[in-house]
Amino acid sequence: MRDAILSLNTGSSSIKFGVYDVGEAGEPATAARGAIRTDRTPRLVVRSVEGASLVDREVGREDVSDAIDALVNWVEQEFGKRRLIGCGHRIVHGGTVFSDPVLLSPPTVDALEKMAPLAPLHQPRSIAPVHAMAELRPRLRQVGCFDTAFHRTIEPPAGCYALPRAYEERGIRRFGFHGLSYEYIASYLAQEGKADQRTVVAHLGNGASLCAMRHGHSLDTTMGFSALDGLVMGTRCGTIDPGILLYLLQHDGMTPDKLQDLLYQNSGLLGVSGISGDMRDLEQSKDPHAREAVELFVFRAAREIAALASTLGGLDCLVFTAGIGEHSATVRWGICDRLRWLGISIDDAGNQRHDPIVSNPTSSVEVRIIPTDEEIVIARHWLAVIGQF
Ligand code: ADP
Repeated sequence: MRDAILSLNTGSSSIKFGVYDVGEAGEPATAARGAIRTDRTPRLVVRSVEGASLVDREVGREDVSDAIDALVNWVEQEFGKRRLIGCGHRIVHGGTVFSDPVLLSPPTVDALEKMAPLAPLHQPRSIAPVHAMAELRPRLRQVGCFDTAFHRTIEPPAGCYALPRAYEERGIRRFGFHGLSYEYIASYLAQEGKADQRTVVAHLGNGASLCAMRHGHSLDTTMGFSALDGLVMGTRCGTIDPGILLYLLQHDGMTPDKLQDLLYQNSGLLGVSGISGDMRDLEQSKDPHAREAVELFVFRAAREIAALASTLGGLDCLVFTAGIGEHSATVRWGICDRLRWLGISIDDAGNQRHDPIVSNPTSSVEVRIIPTDEEIVIARHWLAVIGQF
């Protein structure tokens, strides 16, 4: 019987997960990876380390507890000879209190739940599996890892808003998100001896953001106090003139709840295209509004990459990651084309093939695709936290 830990990365439409064997060596060994879709009829999909399909079947109802139950049963009863000794979670917001991974005791979970106003849709969603697992396996040690934590190294002025100082003291500041993904990329670059490069990482998924990093530290990021800021996203608006929000509230009959719905669920690629928030759908569509939505996504990403190059004082490396970053040659090409003036030049054939390095040898910026792995970062943190006890 081997000891294994489960990493859960709960998103808006799925729970991505990894199963890790824990040996003597310290580094968790990936045993399987997969996802449970939670938006429609839940479906458990698991792949082996080599990428072979291990499971692809419907499970239970549209309910997080059912999904977790199915997953735990699969690991312990079907996957074979594994005993779960722990579970790690991606938690969206650690607020000003939590910047390091923590053991999820009931008072800690209470404190995290109180942070829901900081990430109204994402925080409750990321805590739901913690409760489900606690019901199912009350003795399992659970660890929370925060998407905000990697950005705690952002200093003034990058982390500040131009509001009266009292607001900063009340916690109104740039937190930034997607930290587990950026931490993985930073560890990958460090392993290659490239941590000293001035690097912008473009995490382009349903949620999308950029991180300016050097020496393994975040120096700036496009998401801010909330996960609404920065790039155009699947259904979120990204940076928007705050005057628009005032206007809608004061003169357009908008309530705070409706505004939240508009900005988080009905804007971004979905709002602009009127078709879908999913990049694959838009790339396949012939509708001019779909094309305009993709163009706006690309335009804003290029503009923000240039802004972060300014924070870094130049750019040596641009990394694309997450669903769109790893798989959309069109988006990568569009962004790099707009940034030629920075000395970026990409190889069209390599970009189409999704090569690990898509820039030409003459490019003054190395452009790379690095598939992210938030789940292994969670597993590493679980081991580090539990090792302290
Ligand atoms: P999240 O984890 O934020 O839910 P992902 O990182 O899985 O999101 O990214 C989802 C996005 O990636 C969707 O917009 C999807 O259309 C896009 N995507 C995935 N594969 C491709 C592809 N082959 N071409 C273009 N876009 C893709």
